[in-house]
This record gives sequence, structure tokens and C-alpha cells, in this order.
Amino acid sequence: MSLDSHIESVLWTHDQISDRVAELAAQISTDFDSNSIPPPVVVGVATGAFLFLADLVRKIQLPVSVDFVRVESYGSGTESNGAPVISLNLKLDVKDKHVILVEDIVDTGSTVSCLIPYLELKGASSVSVCTFLDKPSRRKVQVELLGKGKFYRGFQCPDYFVVGYGMDFAELYRNLPYIGVLKPEYYK
Ligand code: 5GP
Ligand code: MG
Ligand code: MG
Repeated sequence: MSLDSHIESVLWTHDQISDRVAELAAQISTDFDSNSIPPPVVVGVATGAFLFLADLVRKIQLPVSVDFVRVESYGSGTESNGAPVISLNLKLDVKDKHVILVEDIVDTGSTVSCLIPYLELKGASSVSVCTFLDKPSRRKVQVELLGKGKFYRGFQCPDYFVVGYGMDFAELYRNLPYIGVLKPEYYK
């Protein structure tokens, strides 16, 4: 039984993803070109952002540094279990640096709205958010307005629980190279 047979529908193919990631990287390369000394720090939110971050930084035409934070809030289900908790801290010093926070998906906005003040407290001069998917229909916090930086989104996502390209259900399916929706029997 193949992995693809677990998927009910594909929302974005690998090719569509690559094209969009290239556009985001080009935009970031332009936006941070002249006004950014020292170079920006790209901070990925583990684990979900790992593939997006890897593809994005390889297309950014600027020297950047890379770090990760980890935030737990989802458990193994499809609904957030409330307040996010930072369980892995930054290694790099972001004081007086521009931070680009890289997320797989912004849903309610709780995760990003917890991380922006955390990065500001560490002295970041601005925090921009670059999320691969954006689900504005479920937003509780208007994260676009926080952080003194820009808000980049790959695609607007309909209100489905999606998997692939880094995103999991119960820690599985992150390795799918596309974004899809699971067949109902696998959401168990
Ligand atoms: P938020 O804090 O904005 O509600 O959501 C934060 C995290 O929930 C995301 O970074 C992601 O890890 C997870 N999440 C939200 N929506 C989805 C989804 O549709 N699929 C998956 N796999 N994870 C999601
Ligand atoms: Mg995430
Ligand atoms: Mg998850």
C-alpha cells in the first residue's frame, strides 16, 4: 500500500509549491537587500517548517543565519489544545537583528503571537513572518499586525486539516512532497 493512497485530495503539488517558494524567496531577497545590516536570522518553527525552510533558504539570495525554536500546542489531534509553550529555545543571539520567522501554517495565530514577543524580548529589531500556508478563517489573533516586520504567505488554505510538506497528523505524513487532505479513515 503506497503512501499516496492515504491521501483523499491534493491541494498543492510539489511543482506548485516550488514555484511559490521561489517567488517568496525572491520577495524576501529584495525586501532585505539594502536595509539589513547585519543579515537576517531565519527562525524556523520545528518541526512543521523544516521542509519549507530548507527550500526557502536555498533560494534566498542573501547571506542568512538559521535557527529553530519548538513550540508545542497541538498534541496529536487536529485541534489545538490551547496555549502554546516554547519547548526549544533559540541558540543564536538575535539582538539587533531582523528575524524572519518561518512557519508551516498560521491557523488561530496563537503560535506566532507567542513567538513574536519572545523574539522581541530577545532584542530582535524586527520580526517578519513567512508562513507557507495561511488559514485566516480560523484566526483568533491578528498576527499580520504584530512584529514590526512583513507578513509573507505562500497560499491561503481552506479550512481543512492538511498534511504534507512538513505538516503532520500524529507525527506522520511530514515527508509527503505535496500538501493534501487525508482520507477520513486515517484521521484516527
Ligand atoms: P496556530 O497556533 O496558528 O493555531 O497553529 C499553529 C500550528 O498548528 C501550526 O504551526 C501547525 O503546526 C498546526 N496546524 C494548524 N493547522 C494545521 C493543519 O491544517 N494541518 C497540520 N498538519 N497542522 C496544522
Ligand atoms: Mg508550525
Ligand atoms: Mg503538528
